[in-house]
Amino acid sequence: MPELPEVETTVRGLAPFLEGQRLVTVSTFRPDLRRPFPADLAQRLTGATVTHLARRAKYGIVSTDRDDHMIFHLGMSGRWRTEGGEAGKHDHLLLETGAGHRLFLHDPRRFGSVDLVNGDPLAIFPAFVTLGPEPLSDDFDAAYLASALAGRRAPIKAMLLDQTIVAGLGNIYVCEALNMARIAPTRVLAAAIAAGGSTLRDFLSPEGDLGYFAKDWRVYGREGERCECGGTIVRIVQSGRSTFYCPKCQR
Ligand SMILES: [Zn+2]
Repeated sequence: MPELPEVETTVRGLAPFLEGQRLVTVSTFRPDLRRPFPADLAQRLTGATVTHLARRAKYGIVSTDRDDHMIFHLGMSGRWRTEGGEAGKHDHLLLETGAGHRLFLHDPRRFGSVDLVNGDPLAIFPAFVTLGPEPLSDDFDAAYLASALAGRRAPIKAMLLDQTIVAGLGNIYVCEALNMARIAPTRVLAAAIAAGGSTLRDFLSPEGDLGYFAKDWRVYGREGERCECGGTIVRIVQSGRSTFYCPKCQR
């Protein structure tokens, strides 16, 4: 499942194809993903010029010179296909630029979403209004985290997954961050985004697997394996989701 670093890598990877480009064709190939595509998506985006790409939490934002902002979420299995060609079975949206690039939103399980707002998406889009700070922003530091967690009695993992405390953290990176407990969570995420550079090299490969990392996690998915400290990684279930950790060094 794409987490924040994968979405960040996706946005950085798409930007060179889209920023400054006019959209000459915008097509959908089915009526919906998790929810319907905006009815006027093609009409409002066709002919517009993309001014900027950005990310907020696990959403990508494609902004145009009409002050329209297309907000996409990759859900469980979404990715952008950049190698062009014709639409395949799981390609649900096409953006074609004046430079001839054809970008397909590919999502076999269709838990992703595409929305369109006019005006500042951070102020308008409902999912953005209640979000906490970005984990890589200056607003997210030890002092903020201490104040946000003060008086809260829930497990730290649940707190870090709470999107109103910090935006965009998912199960994998929270497990990894907690294993690196002496290091701020921002360090964990920054390292993962740096690792995204290797994904970007594959960005034009025939597979076009934009935005997914090699899964060399420290603890995630490694039940029974050895931690760096020599301890053995265990799996427990918290709030219905797997938590992987090392009881020897994580206390
Ligand atoms: Zn350990």
